Amino acid sequence: MPGVWASGATRSGAAVYEQDLPEVWRTDDAGMKLAVASGKGGTGKTTVAVSLALSLDEAHPLYLDCDVEEPNAALFLQPVLTERKVVNNWIPEVDASLCTACGRCAEVCQFHAIAVIGNEVLVFPELCHGCGSCTRNCPEGAIREVPDEIGLLERGHAGMISFAQGTLSIGEPMAVPVIRQLKRWGLDGVDRDRPVILDASPGASCPVVETMREADGVLLVTEPTPFGLHDLRVAVQVTRDELHLPVGVVINRDGVGDNGVDAFCADEDIPILMRIPLEREIAEGIAQGLPLVTIRPAYKEQFVNLWSKMADGVAGALPDTDAGHLNHARKGTQS
Ligand code: SF4
Ligand code: SF4
Repeated sequence: MPGVWASGATRSGAAVYEQDLPEVWRTDDAGMKLAVASGKGGTGKTTVAVSLALSLDEAHPLYLDCDVEEPNAALFLQPVLTERKVVNNWIPEVDASLCTACGRCAEVCQFHAIAVIGNEVLVFPELCHGCGSCTRNCPEGAIREVPDEIGLLERGHAGMISFAQGTLSIGEPMAVPVIRQLKRWGLDGVDRDRPVILDASPGASCPVVETMREADGVLLVTEPTPFGLHDLRVAVQVTRDELHLPVGVVINRDGVGDNGVDAFCADEDIPILMRIPLEREIAEGIAQGLPLVTIRPAYKEQFVNLWSKMADGVAGALPDTDAGHLNHARKGTQS
């Protein structure tokens, strides 16, 4: 079935999100897919994700900026974007000359996105998930589906890094379809052995879960403060306890707060894979749009080691038969 959200795609009958998932995201035949996330904004998630990609550049990584409400990795990576694609949601449009106001469409809509008031059918595009249920259930054939633009996808290259980002249109509430289509489109034609870095949006809500779906592991970036600890707990609950993904932690601005994050990670047996100290030179460089590994090139080796440790953690969580593919990406980082 063609992508439901793709520009120009035509809908034909039933289509729900899960049926449209790309097969290319199967773990057993792809390089490690690592989501980089944080419980809250401003922790340095993109700083870590960008420097990780730059450190792995010899392995030709793919970077997907899935923070579609505020994509900003391009500010650091400065990619040349060569392709663009509109993301559409397909919403119902009712032919009033055929409609009998029977109310069946409103009955079957799980999202309260269509209502029948008197003889009039009202559609609320911002609530519509494009599931097609109303169209299929209309006894008069009075509904057709029309595209509603909800976002934009762009892709290109930043040196040896393949890059793609999604941007949710202003005022649109649903980031998940844009992220799903970004993952599908960004991976299209990409060598499955290459490292994939998924830059998630902050928090632990649906867009983050969608970004992490089919990832092999998650790197959580936090800061050693009570706020950082609170949000880290929530993020661990979602990633490790609910999605059952291997988790590693990076502490950014190390030295700014207390040892609560260290104690939590020790108690929960979560590895702290890197610490980035709170230093004026680093903060000033990042504020100027410089990646961490440009400010401090010595960090590149640490990021390569971080990737290797995450690959070990992921391999340890996989059946033996599924772990071998991770070595390819690791070799690429060591060449
Ligand atoms: S199901 Fe079809 S006919 Fe019935 S109210 Fe909805 S659009 Fe009109
Ligand atoms: S497409 Fe699905 S979500 Fe949208 S109005 Fe119809 S039934 Fe509701």
